[in-house]
Amino acid sequence: MSFALYASIPYTGIMNMNETDVLVIGGGIHGCGVAQAAAARGLRVLLVEQGEIASGTSSRSSKLIHGGLRYLETMQFGLVREALHERETLLRIAPELVRREHFYIPVYRTSSRPPWKITAGLMLYRFIAGGDNDFHRIPRHQWKQVLPDLSREGLRAVFQYWDAATDDAALTRAVADSAVELGAEVWTKCRVQSIRQIEHGWEVNFGDGDTVRALVLVNAAGPWVNQVLQLISPQAGKLKISLVQGSHVILPRPQEAYVYAEAEDGRAVFIMPWKGQTMVGTTEVDVVDVGRPEPDDDEVSYLLKVYRHHYPSRPSSEKDVVACFAGVRVLPGDGGSFTGRTREVRLLCDDSSRPRLVTIYGGKLTTYRRTAERVVQLLSPGLQFPKAEADTSKIKL
Ligand SMILES: Cc1cc2nc3c(=O)[nH]c(=O)nc-3n(C[C@H](O)[C@H](O)[C@H](O)COP(=O)(O)OP(=O)(O)OC[C@H]3O[C@@H](n4cnc5c(N)ncnc54)[C@H](O)[C@@H]3O)c2cc1C
Repeated sequence: MSFALYASIPYTGIMNMNETDVLVIGGGIHGCGVAQAAAARGLRVLLVEQGEIASGTSSRSSKLIHGGLRYLETMQFGLVREALHERETLLRIAPELVRREHFYIPVYRTSSRPPWKITAGLMLYRFIAGGDNDFHRIPRHQWKQVLPDLSREGLRAVFQYWDAATDDAALTRAVADSAVELGAEVWTKCRVQSIRQIEHGWEVNFGDGDTVRALVLVNAAGPWVNQVLQLISPQAGKLKISLVQGSHVILPRPQEAYVYAEAEDGRAVFIMPWKGQTMVGTTEVDVVDVGRPEPDDDEVSYLLKVYRHHYPSRPSSEKDVVACFAGVRVLPGDGGSFTGRTREVRLLCDDSSRPRLVTIYGGKLTTYRRTAERVVQLLSPGLQFPKAEADTSKIKL
């Protein structure tokens, strides 16, 4: 077979399996999370990834481990609660990868959200976090000291609260490493070409006649999710989705803090420290195909405009952009504004009582662990767990 065995840590499983309990398609945060959760239960697990681990959306996010303050506006309270809970879990199990960070919200005369609204939102955020999410309004005389380069023209208020951040690709690789340590096998550069339903599960084909048989399948292909479903015979059901590209630009100056900025159209845009430079994102643009996502010129100008408004003294022209990248998220394809559509993960099963195929639509980096546990739980009627109890919230990354 032609593939690469993922081994950033010594591999202890059975090499080159051609039969497995669980076959996971996709080496993003969700696929790696499911592989880890299933391997923790003692199942035989094979994860296949067409590129490298975290080569899809899971290395192209805003890299925040957060409840999502902005989701309060669209009343996604359940998602915020779960994400805040998971933020705590990740701070505990991955202290070297997930850091607590101060975030600042500047409110200008032109901002659409007045200070009272920000205060109300932060109070609600604190309440949902169980009281442990203090915030305060920075006194005017401290603005310069806290955010030296931030434009003070028309600035009415600055709020400080805390959330968390990570390196998304490093987090994903750490979860993959944990899955391997627990006995999962991970193949990279291995693209699923076709999938056939057989009497007791699935036969998955990787081209050149190479196949693996699996009792159950997990489709964690991120924005390629419906393309993978298309490979299945007989045809599998799918959900209607929108593919929404989000871009980031990297600028040369070191950024002193996480700033929750507002664009002219009222959207939230983050200005963040990233590897000694400044990262600004994100956008929301409808795309038809995933392909190789790249930011377009309009997205770059949009982000630079937000940056320039907040940091007028810093270099912010197109030629100052050091790098840029884009990722694609999966949202429900039910029309309306992207902002209003749920960011909650949706799980589609081929059979509600005894699923043999679970497909993961959308979701958040922050809540990957809960999603993975839910997927393994859904698959349980068709599998026998060698280990009844396994709790990934206790496995250090
Ligand atoms: C711009 C942007 C910003 C975001 N910011 C945040 C944030 O700050 N915080 C947060 O919590 N969430 C954030 N998210 C959401 C989060 O990044 C995603 O939910 C998450 O990364 C999706 O992971 P995934 O594993 O589902 O998909 P992916 O990471 O895309 O993984 C899917 C994998 O499947 C592989 N694949 C596809 N087809 C095949 C095939 N046929 N055979 C083998 N492999 C295949 C792909 O190569 C890919 O690696 C953001 C999303 C976007 C787009």
